[in-house]
This record gives sequence, C-alpha cells and structure tokens, in this order.
Amino acid sequence: MAENTHAQIVIIGTGPAGYTAAIYAARAELSPLVIEGIQPGGQLTTTTEVENFPGFPAGIQGPEMMQLFRQQAERFGTRFSTGMVTAVDFAKRPFTLTVDEEKKVTADAVVIATGASARYLGLPSEKALLGYGVSACATCDGFFYRGKEVVVVGGGDSAMEEATFLTRFATKVTLIHRRDAFRASKIMQKRTLENDKIEVIYNAVVSEVLGDAKETGVTGVRIRDVNSDESREIACHGMFVAIGHTPNTQPFAGAIKLDAKGYVVVEQGSTRTSVEGVFACGDVADQTYRQAITAAGTGCMAAIDVERWLAEQA
Ligand code: NAP
Repeated sequence: MAENTHAQIVIIGTGPAGYTAAIYAARAELSPLVIEGIQPGGQLTTTTEVENFPGFPAGIQGPEMMQLFRQQAERFGTRFSTGMVTAVDFAKRPFTLTVDEEKKVTADAVVIATGASARYLGLPSEKALLGYGVSACATCDGFFYRGKEVVVVGGGDSAMEEATFLTRFATKVTLIHRRDAFRASKIMQKRTLENDKIEVIYNAVVSEVLGDAKETGVTGVRIRDVNSDESREIACHGMFVAIGHTPNTQPFAGAIKLDAKGYVVVEQGSTRTSVEGVFACGDVADQTYRQAITAAGTGCMAAIDVERWLAEQA
C-alpha cells in the first residue's frame, strides 16, 4: 500500500458484511478500498459446510463462499489492501486510519466490518497449551486428531458444529457444557445427540487443561461439576473451545460508541454509528443474529447508507 492512500470509502474487514458492502459500493461507483486483515474471508473461512445461506441448496464450503463474495466485489472494481487497522482518527474529516502501525489511509467514509473473534475460557493452562492441543477451530485443527479423543466446550451452535465435525477424525468427542440445557438450535442439538461418538457432560466446567506444551501437548482436562463441586479428569489429546465470540473493536475504542461488551452501537434500523460518516455492519455490531446472511444484509445496508450520506455532503 502506498503511503497516505485516500479512498472515498474504506471498508475494514472481509467477511460477508465487508464483501457485500464492497459489492454494493463498487456498483455505486464509489471505488471502495477494502482492508483485509490477517484472516481474509473472516469466520466463514474456519467453518465447514454452510447449509443455510439461501441460493446454495446443496450447501457450500465456507472458504469457497467467501472466495465467491470476493470475486464478485472485485468484478465491480473494489480495491483490496492487506493489513491490520491499528488506530483510527474519527475526530476530523477526512478520517485517518493507521494500518500496521505506520501506513496512513484517509477516507471520506468508513465502514467497520471487522467481525468478531473466538473467545477462550481464560485459564492460564489453556493459554499455555494454545496451539499444543487447545484450539478454537475444528476446521483448522481437527485433522490432527485422527484416531484420538478430544473434548469440546460450549453449548451453542458452534459447539454442536465443532463436536459433530470432529467425529470425522476423533474416536470420541466429549462435549462439556456448563448448564443442563443447550443454547443451540434444535436441529444442531439433534444431530449432536444422535451421534454415537459424542458424549455430553452437562453442568460441568473445565477448571484446568492438563499437559505441557513442550513434551506432551494436551493430555486431558480437569472438570468440575457445578452442582456437586466435585472434580475429575478426562483424558484427551485436544480441547476445542466453542464459547462464543468477542467483537473486533479494539482500534475503535474511544473513537466511536461501543456497548458494554464492546460491540459497535448503531442507530436502530441503520448502520450509522455515533460518528457521522462511520458505519458498521455484520457481527461487529450484532450480538443477536450473527449469521452470514444477516451480516451480508447489513453490509448491503451500510453501502446504501454511505452512498446516501456522501450524496448529502456534496
Ligand atoms: P453462543 O450461541 O453465544 O453460545 C456460546 C456457548 O458457550 C453457550 O452455550 C454458553 O453457555 C457457553 N459459554 C460461554 N461462555 C462460557 C464459559 N466461560 N465457560 C463455559 N461455557 C461458556 O455462541 P456460538 O455457539 O458461537 O454461536 C454464535 C452464533 O452463531 C449463534 O447465533 C449461532 O446460532 C450462530 N451459529 C450458527 C451455526 C449454524 O447455523 N450452522 C453454526 C455456528 C454458529 P450458556 O448457554 O450457559 O450461556
């Protein structure tokens, strides 16, 4: 990227929201610049089959779908640049974005579509074993557990999906959930509960991940029953954490209004943020729906909101 690039509209992020905003903005001849972070394509590149995106009756692999989104954005003249937005100045216009702590990009309007990242339990042992048996992405790492036993933590759709996917490789998957009922959709629960390779342990939390990074990797987890307070160990080679996500809003803290959990606050029924000319779409501003289709929908809204806002400024 050349120093001090300027674009009428800069879109930060490349999940369904960012790419859809780019498709619409490019077709409106706004010549958008999309800044791609370290995981181009976003969370869908770490998922397997997407079965619920309309228009793909036979399903489609997440990474392939994101590649198609990107091609469509490119077709209409979207420009792409790689880097992490590390700081922003939204106090004056044009807005300034700092990329990789040094390059500057200025923009008349900004669309934040940075999505959300996997959360971890926060245990020191989990951190120490991250990449040595602890993972938050079965699609990325499941292959390493062929013929082995693993645990999955969580009770939402992600946990069901990860557990089911891991049965392709693992001999046994133990699903550990902190309550006595899953949050996941009925169809995903059914698929999980009907899978002979999956054992569910309810009302339990992982209190420690066992093993060591240098020698053995993960060798097990210690779990605590939340009712009886009793602890026991489960032998396994891997622990997959699937307990939800944190919005990727670190560079925007202090520059725009975020809610208590760090999600961007947008006006109801719009993608406008607390700063005029800055818009947000997709999971970074949505803790309710968080689907590829809703992210794409709000990406479209963001591009239309930007187009109208820019026209008002002229
Ligand atoms: P989620 O729905 O927020 O579920 C997170 C799960 O992790 C909950 O069961 C929660 O327990 C548990 N949890 C949270 N913090 C924990 C902690 N510190 N220790 C132990 N457990 C903890 O997140 P998600 O499963 O990632 O799903 C996010 C969204 O994506 C949802 O809207 C989901 O429908 C969607 N999604 C859809 C699909 C699909 O349709 N194919 C696949 C994946 C995700 P509690 O239940 O007790 O709160």
